Amino acid sequence: MKTCPFCKEVPELPSGDGTQYEIVCACGMAQSCVQISDLMTIDERAGDDFIDYRYAEEYVERAKAEAIRKWDDRC
Ligand SMILES: [Zn+2]
Repeated sequence: MKTCPFCKEVPELPSGDGTQYEIVCACGMAQSCVQISDLMTIDERAGDDFIDYRYAEEYVERAKAEAIRKWDDRC
């Protein structure tokens, strides 16, 4: 994962609670955000219980990979 273009730090990766996976640099200048359900099929959405305001780990991991890809693209 690339460093932030503004402060040159590598941002911390969030745990993935909630409906979107959002990487926000501590400097507040850079971010990368993915709607987790955008990467899920209709069947996957229907089959996920979204327990404790969190999607199943495989979907969180998928969104995390995409958020990192977007982050690296932009830098
Ligand atoms: Zn930064």
